[in-house]
Amino acid sequence: MTTVGFIGLGNMGGPMAANLVAAGHEVLGYDLSETAVAAADEAGVRVLGSVAELAAAAQVVITMLPAGQHVQEVVLGDEGVLKHAVDGTLVIDSSTIDIQSARVVHAALAERGLPVVDAPVSGGVTKARAGTLTFMVGGTQDAVELARPYLEVMGANIIHAGSASAGQAAKICNNMLLGATMTAVAEAFVLGERLGLEARSLFDIVSTSSGDSWALHNFCPWPGLVEGSAADNGYRANFAAALMSKDLRLALTAADQVGATLPLSSVANEVFAELASVEGHLDASAVIRQIRGRD
Ligand code: NAD
Repeated sequence: MTTVGFIGLGNMGGPMAANLVAAGHEVLGYDLSETAVAAADEAGVRVLGSVAELAAAAQVVITMLPAGQHVQEVVLGDEGVLKHAVDGTLVIDSSTIDIQSARVVHAALAERGLPVVDAPVSGGVTKARAGTLTFMVGGTQDAVELARPYLEVMGANIIHAGSASAGQAAKICNNMLLGATMTAVAEAFVLGERLGLEARSLFDIVSTSSGDSWALHNFCPWPGLVEGSAADNGYRANFAAALMSKDLRLALTAADQVGATLPLSSVANEVFAELASVEGHLDASAVIRQIRGRD
């Protein structure tokens, strides 16, 4: 049994921490949200009052936070992990963040001699609950092997993508594809509706045809077609539109830095930026509302 500190107990971090508890680890938790903290407490996480307290008590620290600025604050800040962790503490950042922040965090922790990996995930809330996420991992081989037993509790696929920040690079490419596909799926339902198709027929046809996609099954924007979908639940977020927008921005920023042109993702980025500015708290599948409103 290891003492694992888990910072960021939201839609993803909550169930990931619960799986570590179920695997027999002592899990310490920290989050700013009372709702997240209450749910984690219910799942057997011992919630602490500060990052500093958590870092000082944990052998492994996992962060699952919204963006690079939060990870930098939690890891590098005065009350943060870098300052308060004991020697040898393994740090795993599973948030989706920009490459630059990931490199800054890696460098600072490595300078202190702490093993660190960036290990963003794919699979959404469903796979977070099931413990079947895909982890894309960046860091040294030694650090990846230290992290593997914990990642295996929360995931089904653990893939070493390369050195520091390579996990984030892979995640950015993956989510760029997701954002473009979700936009296209929403467009198909809007066009189908205008052409007089029943949404159910369209779903049954596309899901067994060449237009099928992960986005259709996991982020079906039309209510009543996929059991448990956010669309069936007033678009209550499994994966918030604001986070999808963030990921597309990360992709375009990274593309700018390396001179890549991404026409399709640029349009998806605009669509999600508009959605995020009005309904960013809703599920990303609410992109269909944006597509409808754009006519
Ligand atoms: P979320 O907003 O549900 O959870 C984030 C949590 O971090 C919140 O509970 C918030 O209170 C907490 N937080 C923010 N700042 C904090 C701080 N300084 N200290 C402590 N806690 C803080 O988001 P989520 O959906 O769980 O996503 C978390 C990360 O995982 C994001 O980077 C996201 O892009 C990525 N991700 C999400 C999904 C998904 O389907 N939801 C899938 C893959 C990756």
